[in-house]
Amino acid sequence: MAYLGEPANTIAVLQKYNFNFQKKFGQNFLIDKHVLEKIIRSAEITKDDFVLEIGPGIGTMTQYLCEAAREVCSVEIDRNLIPILEDTLKEYDNVEIKNEDILKVDIKALAEEKNGGKPIKVVANLPYYITTPIIMELFESGTPIESITIMVQKEVADRMQEKPGSKEYGALSLAVQYYAKPEIMAFVPENCFMPRPKVGSAVIKLTRYEKPPVDVKNEKLMFSIIRASFNQRRKTLANGLKNGGGFGLTKEQIEESIEELGYPATVRGEKLSLEEFATLANIIESKKSI
Ligand code: SAM
Repeated sequence: MAYLGEPANTIAVLQKYNFNFQKKFGQNFLIDKHVLEKIIRSAEITKDDFVLEIGPGIGTMTQYLCEAAREVCSVEIDRNLIPILEDTLKEYDNVEIKNEDILKVDIKALAEEKNGGKPIKVVANLPYYITTPIIMELFESGTPIESITIMVQKEVADRMQEKPGSKEYGALSLAVQYYAKPEIMAFVPENCFMPRPKVGSAVIKLTRYEKPPVDVKNEKLMFSIIRASFNQRRKTLANGLKNGGGFGLTKEQIEESIEELGYPATVRGEKLSLEEFATLANIIESKKSI
């Protein structure tokens, strides 16, 4: 039975192993069983599923995942947690713990090995200091993914859902919305964690699209354009693109491309929707090859 959702049990494990929290690893462990159950329900895990968990901590959510899924692989960077995980997960024979940095794991190969290349579910209470690189790696590595259900900083969850015109809209919003449908499942207060984080948190589910919602000929080019546009938020889109290397186009061709999209060359990148960035990338791609 999953017993770590009870704060007293978490405290007992921490004391037994004299565990010291490592701030540099973003260690804020969940101690609220309603939140844990909500995450598992949101992820819609069944006995057919292979689940990748990032950062199991002392194994709190891992216990719930083991009970719901066919198989679980949890990747934990902190080697001090490994003997604790061996203890808290000893009842379960469907879990593998890897003592590695998730950013160095070949996630695509792992999905192939564990799930025969079928789409996997990712579930995590993420370390907040590397939320964006983890999400980008999951999408860009070409790993077959069905959904990603994660606890993140509330502001980051908001950013993933933002549309043009908002201050928080940016490269992360566009990347997430290109690959997946974002849906905030719950807001989680600080007192559900030990130690308490200084920021509010939210559970967000990203359900991967089978096919991206926009047609773009050169995905890499579109993301380079997006990055260049938001690197210099206060500059015009034309200047952002020029300073971002110009993408093989002259200053005049860049301005022409923006005008072809239906905007004046003085527009800012934050005005453009995902669809417009895709169209702009297609225009620039066609001019490049002239
Ligand atoms: N899942 C646990 C829970 O909910 O109680 C712990 C979540 S805690 C917010 C984040 C976990 O990720 C910590 O256990 C931390 O050591 C681990 N972690 C941090 N950086 C990591 C990395 N680069 N690769 C794998 N795990 C990492």
